[in-house]
Amino acid sequence: AKAAGRNAIRWFDHGMLKDDDGRLALSAALRQALEQGELSLAYQPQLDLATGQVVGVEALARWTSPTLGPVPPDRFIPVAEDGGMITHLGNWVLRTACEALVRMQEELGHPLRLAVNVSPRQLRGRAWLEEIADAISSAGIAPAQLEVEITEGLLIEDHGDVVAMLESLRSLGVAIVVDDFGRGYSSLAYLTKFPIDKIKIDRSFISEITCADNDAAIVDAIIVMAHALGMTVVAEGVETAVQERYLRERGCDEVQGYRYSPGVPADDVVQVTRALSG
Ligand code: C2E
Ligand code: CA
Ligand code: CA
Ligand code: CA
Repeated sequence: AKAAGRNAIRWFDHGMLKDDDGRLALSAALRQALEQGELSLAYQPQLDLATGQVVGVEALARWTSPTLGPVPPDRFIPVAEDGGMITHLGNWVLRTACEALVRMQEELGHPLRLAVNVSPRQLRGRAWLEEIADAISSAGIAPAQLEVEITEGLLIEDHGDVVAMLESLRSLGVAIVVDDFGRGYSSLAYLTKFPIDKIKIDRSFISEITCADNDAAIVDAIIVMAHALGMTVVAEGVETAVQERYLRERGCDEVQGYRYSPGVPADDVVQVTRALSG
């Protein structure tokens, strides 16, 4: 893709990230997208497995560029991280989602929890703590309604810094969730070092539950261990009734996945929630 110029960035494709020109073009397009409000959020319901009720939603960033078309978050989040835009993007996600949550629960008539993804890079510096505290109080939601999803990568970076930062986050009353648990670096040691409230089992283990005994054994072990440590467990990527039944039998607390709903626009959350909660 050395044929630079305007047409070079017409269509987004995976190859684009492999060369610097493409990555730069994507970075420039994302910067503009943030200014011009091309980003939106989808909300995926999370259900309590025992009651079947929707108890929360996870905010997922969406970007449809007028020139590139829809760009998946797995592609543009890394670009935002490298291009120094992740703080801006992350703050926008946080505020937008908190405000949307207030509208959803007003219409719904009962509170919901909100899970927000954060990149390790966003958490550097103290500014972010104030940003969170302010987003919560401006929107008028209870801190306990907010869950911050971090990844294992942040925890293996170790350091008292991360512990202190997570401690102060928690002292705000916000819950801390380890996302994609088991996917990457998994060291069980970090679970006792860091203030963690909840573990989200990576969907790769969930998808294999029925066809690979070893994955089922890992899921069992994660649930038992998390509960022994006083943590809640949520399974992501639940797609089938068989997976759901397995997770319920094993005492998994919450579920999320296409079996229930994909991420939907804020305006559709209430309707989807009512349909799911029956
Ligand atoms: P994630 O946090 O693990 O989010 C779950 C991803 O799995 C979402 O993809 C969701 O649409 C997808 N998913 C949900 N249910 C199912 C299912 O049943 N089966 C399958 N196969 N997939 C399912 P999405 O929205 O493309 O997001 C991808 C990743 O991008 C997220 O993974 C997260 O790491 C990142 N991301 C998204 N929004 C944000 C954000 O606002 N900030 C940051 N830092 N990262 C974000
Ligand atoms: Ca997540
Ligand atoms: Ca995840
Ligand atoms: Ca995952």
